[in-house]
Amino acid sequence: MGRMRRKGDLPTKTCAMCGRPFAWRKKWADSWDEVRYCSERCRPNRARGADGAGAAADAKD
Ligand SMILES: [Zn+2]
Repeated sequence: MGRMRRKGDLPTKTCAMCGRPFAWRKKWADSWDEVRYCSERCRPNRARGADGAGAAADAKD
């Protein structure tokens, strides 16, 4: 249990898709205000195509 949070400066959000918290990233520097998903995988926009895994979001691990 020696986890020190050095990145306390970074703002965080909760992914609208998987519900997981994620921290600010440099690539979002210009669009952080619009960011809603932790990654492109969670973005409905990118979920186009036959990915196969688009069922219930049962985030077990
Ligand atoms: Zn997500």
